[in-house]
Amino acid sequence: MWQRSAAATPGTPAAMRPQAHIAASLVIWGCGNGRLAEAPVCALCGNLPDFDRNVAKALGVQRRDHHRWVSHSLVGWLPPSVLALRAARGTRHAPAVRRGVAAVWLHLLCDTYADGLAWLWPLDKEKIGLFMRNPELKDAGWKTPAPLSSHLGRVEAGLWAAAAVLALRRVAQAR
Ligand SMILES: [Zn+2]
Repeated sequence: MWQRSAAATPGTPAAMRPQAHIAASLVIWGCGNGRLAEAPVCALCGNLPDFDRNVAKALGVQRRDHHRWVSHSLVGWLPPSVLALRAARGTRHAPAVRRGVAAVWLHLLCDTYADGLAWLWPLDKEKIGLFMRNPELKDAGWKTPAPLSSHLGRVEAGLWAAAAVLALRRVAQAR
């Protein structure tokens, strides 16, 4: 069950792919009543925590485990989430902002499921999660394989199926 260690879980593939985070974000969008134009914004929000890789690359930071960093921690997302929700309160954008914030937190929950996160960074850099990624398996972002024979592959397929069903429902409602 829940682990608090760096030990890898045998048979666990690399971390959740950006594609899976997009699907999870579209599920959130599909559960609401936002406009179609909001869907890509929601998908973008659902990938915000992983943009630290681009920042690190631009800064010349060498390889590191980004699941043990500010980008995947309580301290990294709680203040901006509260600020965004407060700023949007009472405005017509409030539902969209709520869904964007929910997409960010679903990203963190998915990563917690797939690999574990150092939620308490910088106080504690140990990961907390259901599975731990085998460090020998490379997280290649978009190119990371997610075969249906793996549990993460099945999770991703389930997310895309749910996103498709919800999108079809939205289209049917719009008619
Ligand atoms: Zn992530």
